[in-house]
Amino acid sequence: MGGHTSVTFLGAARTVTGSKFLVDTDGARVMVDCGLFQGERLWRRRNWEQLSVDPATVDAVVITHAHLDHSGYLPLLVKNGFSGPAYCTPETAELAAIILRDSAHIAEGDAAHADAAGYSKHQPALPLFDSGDAEKAIDLLTTVDHNTPTTIAGGIGLELRSAGHILGSAFAELELAGHRLLVSGDIGRPGHPLLLPPETPHAADTVVVESTYGNRQHRPEDDDVVADAITRTVERGGVVLMPAFAVDRTFVLLMVLARLETEGRIPSVPVYVDSPMALRALEVYQRAIARHDPQVRPEVTMASTEYRPARLRLAPGITESEKLNRPGKPCIVVSASGMATGGRVLHHLKHQLPNPRNSVVLTGYQVPGTRGRALLDGEKQVKIHGRYIPVRAEIHVANAYSAHADAEQMVQWLSAMKPPETAYVVHGEEDAARALAERLADELGWNAVVPRYLERVRL
Ligand SMILES: [Zn+2]
Repeated sequence: MGGHTSVTFLGAARTVTGSKFLVDTDGARVMVDCGLFQGERLWRRRNWEQLSVDPATVDAVVITHAHLDHSGYLPLLVKNGFSGPAYCTPETAELAAIILRDSAHIAEGDAAHADAAGYSKHQPALPLFDSGDAEKAIDLLTTVDHNTPTTIAGGIGLELRSAGHILGSAFAELELAGHRLLVSGDIGRPGHPLLLPPETPHAADTVVVESTYGNRQHRPEDDDVVADAITRTVERGGVVLMPAFAVDRTFVLLMVLARLETEGRIPSVPVYVDSPMALRALEVYQRAIARHDPQVRPEVTMASTEYRPARLRLAPGITESEKLNRPGKPCIVVSASGMATGGRVLHHLKHQLPNPRNSVVLTGYQVPGTRGRALLDGEKQVKIHGRYIPVRAEIHVANAYSAHADAEQMVQWLSAMKPPETAYVVHGEEDAARALAERLADELGWNAVVPRYLERVRL
């Protein structure tokens, strides 16, 4: 099209985090996703750098889902002058409020810690943003239901359609004066035990698509990996620690554990959920089940026991959390954060990793530079709270419970569309993004490219 319509890749270009896509038209400037960079310091440092555009010039934000790498920069955008609406689904608004408050709390804690340790450049140390910024960001969340076309800044049309990734997740279909732009956000795998599969995308002229697992295939045998790890660990009297993202993954794991128990494939032992944020998210999920939300599979009801292992223990306080460091009996502990970058899971890792009786089961994508990735890569020690902890526990990986589609599922999902003019492959490490771009070219005949960080393309 003519005019000056463009997309600038302000994040998630050749990396999986920091999703931020700036859409400029003649009439408006809209940011689709507003995520924080996580993982390696090189990337996290970008959170502190000045954005290449003045946040005050952004008219509106669209948030595809609540995960921090899609929503977590919003408080910072607000702190630096953004005051427009941030469109998202109602469930994303609920979950983003939980996630943004938690992340402000962590940022404030980190700053206080830097002060105490005396290693901050600032005196006193400054958090990336604080609770006040998070509350202002939460106030700007403006809800739009799935499948409800709406008009936003500059006459841009917006429709959010269910992505089946986590509750509330959506891919965004934008209409820019006749040019149709699809931004995938994160696309779920069709086998999510709670959520219905992603909806079929409408035709688009330009596609911006994620590639988290662009070079990988989920393995159906991961049930066996988990069942085997739990059975053997319980037999030798150990603890099974499952680091899990608080939102969605914890719920999915409870469903997996309940099913394996019912099928008689794992012994019934106490299952502890030790993450205050996970417990708040579980409430949002339970409310969605109770009201028969259209994103939820109809067979999952409040009456079903599908998401409750028999000996589920919710809501342990700090004292109970500390007791779990030496449980004295076999049990399963599900705790956040999922990549072991912070949260209560660190205390559990510190206590469980040195003992070969125990097992750690990693169940999600592990960004390079995180402790989770170090464990995945077979490191013999990891640094926690300033100390090196030897890794003697068994480490298992079960990616099949990921909230992301794998490469085959992404190609399947996109194959329903007519080829767009161009597809920009984002939200994947470079190898994964390139692999998916190649498959889109070879199998669907698409013009698919992998954009660079800060690259701007005309539509
Ligand atoms: Zn996500």
